Amino acid sequence: MEPTNLHILGGGPAGLTTGYYAKKHNFNFTIFEAGEHAGGNCRTLKIKGENCKFRILQSGDFRFDTGAHRFHDKDPQVTEEVRTLLGNDLMRVEAPSEIFFEGKFYQFPLHLSDLTQKLETKTLLKIMWEQLHNSRKKYAENFTDFAINQYGKTLAERFLLNYSEKLWGAPSHSLSTTIAGNRLKGLDLRSFLRSALFGTPQNPNHLDGSFFYPRHGIGMISDKLCEFIGKRHIKLQHRISRLIHKDGKIEHIVLNDDIEIQASTVINTLPLTLSIRMLDPSPPPELRAIADRIKYRHLMLCVFCLNREAFSPNASLYFPGEEFPFTRLYEPKNRSTEMAPKGQTVIVLELPCYSDDTIWNMSEAALQTKVWEALQNVKTLSSEEIIHHQTYKLPFAYPVLEVGFEERVRHLVKYFETFKNLHLTGRNSLFRYLHLHDLFKAGKEVIEKIANV
Ligand SMILES: Cc1cc2nc3c(=O)[nH]c(=O)nc-3n(C[C@H](O)[C@H](O)[C@H](O)COP(=O)(O)OP(=O)(O)OC[C@H]3O[C@@H](n4cnc5c(N)ncnc54)[C@H](O)[C@@H]3O)c2cc1C
Repeated sequence: MEPTNLHILGGGPAGLTTGYYAKKHNFNFTIFEAGEHAGGNCRTLKIKGENCKFRILQSGDFRFDTGAHRFHDKDPQVTEEVRTLLGNDLMRVEAPSEIFFEGKFYQFPLHLSDLTQKLETKTLLKIMWEQLHNSRKKYAENFTDFAINQYGKTLAERFLLNYSEKLWGAPSHSLSTTIAGNRLKGLDLRSFLRSALFGTPQNPNHLDGSFFYPRHGIGMISDKLCEFIGKRHIKLQHRISRLIHKDGKIEHIVLNDDIEIQASTVINTLPLTLSIRMLDPSPPPELRAIADRIKYRHLMLCVFCLNREAFSPNASLYFPGEEFPFTRLYEPKNRSTEMAPKGQTVIVLELPCYSDDTIWNMSEAALQTKVWEALQNVKTLSSEEIIHHQTYKLPFAYPVLEVGFEERVRHLVKYFETFKNLHLTGRNSLFRYLHLHDLFKAGKEVIEKIANV
């Protein structure tokens, strides 16, 4: 078979996994990435030990991921593929997560025995009453209904609705039930109650504290993909600025506003809203109006390298309370000890926001002060312990799954499907809450589809 030319737009995990399978199929392909690095929102960043001014106990690097990541072992074939790429560096990690609410740490996923110890009897009885008398409806229209339906009002209000509103930046009744994804599956309190009251076995399926993680951070997966693909196939600092089309075909791709290349088969992983704006000529106004109604949530990461052995034993700590500007704290060292020098640690706080929010536009110093002050309500920390701090902007972190988003996205995707030589894949291109294993699968599928045409 003659090699086919493929243009892959975006060098995040979706572009890289597609490139990975393109290489395996012997395609002739190029990945265009706007940034200086490939990996998109799935990278591991290094803070060099020698850059930290104060009190370095031992030299070494601090590492943190672009948001708390783990590799989900959901698809045996994909896991095998990642294991082949990483070898012994794909480690099984055991680290529990917790929720911090009203001054107490609760195990996450919630456990009845833990709740019994920490909640007042009155609250506990209310939760139990709601669980046992909750006649679960088959259908919920929005996330508020879904959460109350599943877990009862008291639990939902304490741990879920507030957290979701902070994370997605919208009232929970305007959010789609799909935001729950797979993350709430383990929150089956009813089975815990049944087991406590009637002695039936608990559901052993949810092992949230046990997961796969690469030794030097999640970015190792992106790095290994790049290595396999080969440098010559990845063009960094090549921003797609326009997609010129004619007669239902993408004819030319414009790079960095001035280089125009002839398009062959195009695989687009860029955010749906950006892609709509790049089309030349513009799509019909009604489609542009639909695109204007879908949103992406960004994340501001606040990173503190600390001169202390550990902050917590947790993989992640969740903060549903509105007094905290962050939703999650993670400590990379609890996933792999290679992520910080001995005797020191790094913590990363995730602050979800939109690009016009104060947080996104705050000065680094003001943001750090705000976060540091809030952290004092979790644990007493001395500013003397800070070895280094920095902030990092993570755009397009989450597609905001509002009620009715499926219909809007369907219109846009359908429009893109009318182009004969264009395929969409990726979290923000498909506007779906996809994870790395999904992207491996999607990359494989798109390449096999093209190979079989
Ligand atoms: C906080 C957080 C936690 C997560 N946790 C997990 C987890 O635990 N497990 C898991 O499996 N997944 C997790 N994910 C999801 C995973 O990181 C994403 O699925 C993945 O990053 C999406 O890859 P993508 O390539 O579709 O998009 P992106 O990663 O957004 O990559 C898009 C790429 O396109 C580039 N680009 C943008 N515009 C242009 C342009 N005009 N021209 C050229 N290039 C452009 C960008 O620079 C970027 O490199 C998490 C994500 C976040 C944000």
